[in-house]
Amino acid sequence: MSQQDGDKPAENKKPKAVALLSGGLDSSLAVRMMLEEGIDVEAVAVKTPFCDFDCGKGCGQRVKEVADELGIKLKTVYFGEEYLRMLKNPKYGYGSGMNPCIDCRGMMYSAAKEHMKKINADFVITGEVLFQRPMSQNNRALHIIEKETGMECKVLRPLSAKHLPPTDAENLGLIKRENMGDIKGRSRKGQLTMAKHFGMSDPPNAAGGCLLTDPSFSKRVKDILDHCDDIPTLNDIELLKVGRHFRIMHDAKFVVGRNEDENEVMKALAADGDIVMEVKDHVGPTCILRCKSYNDPLLAKCAAIAARYSDAPRHELSNVSITVNGDKSEVRVMPADIETIEMIRI
Ligand code: SF4
Repeated sequence: MSQQDGDKPAENKKPKAVALLSGGLDSSLAVRMMLEEGIDVEAVAVKTPFCDFDCGKGCGQRVKEVADELGIKLKTVYFGEEYLRMLKNPKYGYGSGMNPCIDCRGMMYSAAKEHMKKINADFVITGEVLFQRPMSQNNRALHIIEKETGMECKVLRPLSAKHLPPTDAENLGLIKRENMGDIKGRSRKGQLTMAKHFGMSDPPNAAGGCLLTDPSFSKRVKDILDHCDDIPTLNDIELLKVGRHFRIMHDAKFVVGRNEDENEVMKALAADGDIVMEVKDHVGPTCILRCKSYNDPLLAKCAAIAARYSDAPRHELSNVSITVNGDKSEVRVMPADIETIEMIRI
């Protein structure tokens, strides 16, 4: 787009796009392609309770760094309970794990759409690559997501645009279709060539993973959705990310920390009504029993599991402390036997 060169009054009319930015290579490239086309870009990053785009540096830090490198403004949108409600019953179902990609992308498109309206942008861009992800990046899924969100022709995927129908951005001459990408599939070759073109010496990897595509984490998610009356709390979801999990009864779940760090996280996550257990006199895990009601046999069963994962001798009675809403008591149990435990492990 060179028609604005030296034409000062046209500055306000520079086309504007909202980018869905993940912090990974593909969405970064999509932004760079737009900047090269002379488009003003602002980014929206979406954080779900299950995504991990912070790479351990703190919430959303990685994507902030990428936005800074690109020199664009960033708005971060956090999905909470509304995401869990969708996850409980996604209109378009799940992928290979508990990943409701079509519905999830729909929520992301809606967030981008809202920002697009707010800043009066002309269109939205994403780093989506046709056929890169089986559930959400095929022609049918892309069409469904656009239709569901009222974004037909408004979403440009610069990396794959030549394989997709022209959008408003091309039809209105805001960008040149011939400058768009023709990447498709799972290979990263095209993206790496593009990264070279943009002089990116150390291109980022794909964005942080989504826990909902992880098979073992998905089992925990399915379990909690199957066993809660309405939707889980955000605290329930955070608890899924640590410890070993055991389904003791329909409304009783027991979580056992796996190391010191997890023990600390679990102490912080312990909510009102949670029963916290720790083995006395031996190194062992912090455990949380989350249940609607409890009785002595239930406490003893959980205490035995706690003892099994401690350094307490396998064939001797151990003391396990039990704290409920600040009230402390103690129970004496034999460590549970591992085969029994494994049968109820999620
Ligand atoms: S992989 Fe996860 S974050 Fe990505 S679209 Fe699917 S559910 Fe959403």
